[in-house]
Amino acid sequence: MGVSCGSYLRDRCSRLFPFFSDPALRSAFYLKLALVLLHIVFVGVLFLFDRDLIEKTKHEPWYTAMYALLFVATLIQYFVTAGTSPGYVIDVQKAIDERDAAARRKLLASNIQKAVDDRDAAARKTLLASKQPASSKNGDVVITVDGRNNCRGNTTAWTKLVMSLSPQRSSTTSLTCSYCNIPQPPRAKHCHDCNKCVLQFDHHCVWLGTCIGQGNHCRFWWYICEETALTIWTSILYTGYLKSNILKAWWADIILIILLVALSISLIFLMLLLLFHSYLIMTNQTTYELVRRRRIVYLRGIPERVYPFSEGVCRNLYLFYCARSSSSMYRLERLPTAQELEDKSRPYTCYDVLSCRCC
Ligand SMILES: [Zn+2]
Ligand SMILES: [Zn+2]
Repeated sequence: MGVSCGSYLRDRCSRLFPFFSDPALRSAFYLKLALVLLHIVFVGVLFLFDRDLIEKTKHEPWYTAMYALLFVATLIQYFVTAGTSPGYVIDVQKAIDERDAAARRKLLASNIQKAVDDRDAAARKTLLASKQPASSKNGDVVITVDGRNNCRGNTTAWTKLVMSLSPQRSSTTSLTCSYCNIPQPPRAKHCHDCNKCVLQFDHHCVWLGTCIGQGNHCRFWWYICEETALTIWTSILYTGYLKSNILKAWWADIILIILLVALSISLIFLMLLLLFHSYLIMTNQTTYELVRRRRIVYLRGIPERVYPFSEGVCRNLYLFYCARSSSSMYRLERLPTAQELEDKSRPYTCYDVLSCRCC
């Protein structure tokens, strides 16, 4: 009875909301619902018990309005981050190959037009010279397009681009992902949860239900930042309530103490995460590159303190926060040359410190 009732409800839900029939989308929906409920519980309990806070809201509504604004902004940031593409290699590859095909079609059309114009001009010249009507065996136009532009073979524009970015790994096979069957640019990695290669792969976030890559890393950082601020503010409100109401209602105190402990643990985790990601941004690294440094082919043999993709703290920050004008814009980084790595591994001198070498 219970099983049939459950399956009936699921069928009804699937009919009303088509995404319910997909297990992955269903679990993503439950995850987001759980997160929203968790936020509502932590804030709702506070407004349920804390009479002082309700009184304060009446006299100073801006205080509660600011808190509510942060609460809503954090949830919006969560949904925006979860809904932003991390930068799937397959999407970028398709866009580049389509753009290349369109450019080739345009070039071919202009060559055809040029050939037709040339033939017409030649025919007019002949007509004027001989004073007789032009004759042709057939009406076909034979066009020779530059072989460099016409010969595609199996090498697509994307493959050529990836090869140019990875001069040290010249074989296409060594660059090709065995799951997606497409060449991976430097810093991309296949995610087994998303089953796609991700540009500048950082990690797969279970909390957001998506990968963190070049496309959404910045939004992820802002989300952690807002979540940290919200947790700090909520903890302050909890502490304030416990200070003024201790021993008044012990059962309410116990609930709030348990929630405050959970908040404190979350806060420690969030602050460490925020500091860790800020460090990664300043040095232009990813979590994957930091954790698996010795296993990644392009990082092998590079000294620990050398950050091969770093362009200095200021430029790294600019590229991370400001350089992307749209969510569909991606930056493909090339592997540094041996000379560049040698320069980066050069020990710091007094002159480097004075001239702000890191910036
Ligand atoms: Zn892949
Ligand atoms: Zn993933």
